[in-house]
Parts: sequence; C-alpha cells; structure tokens
Amino acid sequence: MLHIFSNAELAAYLEEDLDAARSSQLEQALANDVELNNRLNTLRQQIAVGEHSLGAIWRQHNLGCPSRKTLGAYLLGVLPGEQKLFIQSHIETRGCLTCQANLDDLEEQQTQNQANMTARTTRYYQSSIGYLSQHRNDS
Ligand SMILES: [Zn+2]
Repeated sequence: MLHIFSNAELAAYLEEDLDAARSSQLEQALANDVELNNRLNTLRQQIAVGEHSLGAIWRQHNLGCPSRKTLGAYLLGVLPGEQKLFIQSHIETRGCLTCQANLDDLEEQQTQNQANMTARTTRYYQSSIGYLSQHRNDS
C-alpha cells in the first residue's frame, strides 16, 4: 500500500486542516516511513519560522478545498491576508461550488446568530427605556 503525500497535505495536517480520512492514512504512513517523518519535521520547522504560510503552500500546490473551520474564519474576517486571498480566488476565480455552498450555509448561520443577538439587545433596551420613562413619570 503506497500513499503519496504532497507538502500541501502535510502542511494541512500540521495546521489540523486535513480531512479525517486522509489524516489517518497519513498517520499510518508516518508510523513506518522515516523519510515522510523527515519531510513533516522539515515542514513543521519551516512553518514555525514563517517560511511557509499555509496560504503560500496552498497556492503553490493547488491544494483542494479549505475546511469549514477555515471558511468560518474567512467569513468572520479573521484569516491572515494570504489565506483570505486564497479562499477568495478559490471561490471567485475557480468558482468552487462546494465551498460556495459551505460559505452560504455558514453565512446563514452567522446571520441567524446575529439576529438572535440583536433581538436580545433590543429587548434589553426596550426594558431599560420602559424603566427610565417610569422613573421620569414618578418625578
Ligand atoms: Zn472548494
């Protein structure tokens, strides 16, 4: 059984962004492949010193879809610039429908959360206004 892992996949694994099935294949391969271990260690060091950002590796190796976690961070605008650009080009230029669907879904969830929060805030304000006007009437 031979599995070939690209640097992009190894990097995704290090960033905990590789899908579960592929991760367990990789872990099995790591158990008896010294060369693969060396590559993983080298990559880990490169990432640690910032020689490879995940975004750069992604673009270089044309890695597949970002995870839902990454898409969520993208929506919240908390991704580093390079990853943001990657996702933008992945969805807008390459037109990945899977990610677009995921993104729509996540967006809906976030809008829903926001709506719930706004409803709570509004209720809070309404009750404070009620409280204040009551006091005004008293004096
Ligand atoms: Zn995609």
